[in-house]
Amino acid sequence: MEFQDAVVVVTGGTRGIGRAVSLAFAAAGAKVYAAYRENVSAAAALQQEAALLAGSISVIQADVSTSAGAGALIDAATAENGYLDVLVNNAGIIRDGYLAMMSEDDWDSVIHTNLYPLFHCCKWGVRKMLARRRGAIVTISSISGVAGASGQTNYAASKGAAISFTKALARELGPMGIRVNAVVAGLIATDMTAGLKQEQVDRIISASALGRIGQPDEVAAAVIFLASSQASYITGQCLVADGGIL
Ligand code: NDP
Repeated sequence: MEFQDAVVVVTGGTRGIGRAVSLAFAAAGAKVYAAYRENVSAAAALQQEAALLAGSISVIQADVSTSAGAGALIDAATAENGYLDVLVNNAGIIRDGYLAMMSEDDWDSVIHTNLYPLFHCCKWGVRKMLARRRGAIVTISSISGVAGASGQTNYAASKGAAISFTKALARELGPMGIRVNAVVAGLIATDMTAGLKQEQVDRIISASALGRIGQPDEVAAAVIFLASSQASYITGQCLVADGGIL
């Protein structure tokens, strides 16, 4: 099995896309450490579900937008073996609104939750990859970070930054055998998008070639590919999983 006993950290790994990523890695034999911020019941449900899989999922409460939270997560994941194979930067939020009306808090919380974890988790995570000169980092970006979206200046800024962060880190870590890539996701059916108005959903779907919303496991499949040996010569790239919107 490709990820048998591999140590995998998934931030925001207990709901939505992150949950699908955690389950996919555990199904492939990995020891998954899934971080969440506050939703204990979703975390507990995921841990129960993982009992039947080849690998394991340990859920860890950690606010990865802080250095202390990210450090504690990486420490917990590497306590047993001392190394880390895969880091998936997935945690993220939206606080949509037009710029002229956007509160400083909505700007700050999105930048803080979506961008800061990339710095903190990669910083601590990379240290655990360098010793063995191998590892893969996959970050979840968005079509909003590529093409922009009205009402999402905060979110688009954070997701665009995730792409440039990915490209810079890929150049930095390539010589050390560590690959860094991103998945650019389109509209995916999760709690994050459940609150969208039907006309918003219809507008996005009509702009897509496949004419439907995506499912979390369709993004997870792209993450698994980029983390796997099938992608051994791929780094600094964005794999778009958006049903053909871009
Ligand atoms: P959900 O809202 O369904 O899940 C978000 C997850 O992130 C939860 O597990 C949540 O924990 C966790 N989380 C949030 N903040 C933190 C934090 N500071 N520390 C640790 N965990 C945190 O989101 P999605 O699955 O929809 O989105 C996942 C990622 O994919 C995000 O980065 C999002 O921007 C991106 N994306 C989503 C798209 C979509 O259409 N859904 C499209 C493109 C990109 P808790 O359960 O405790 O709240």
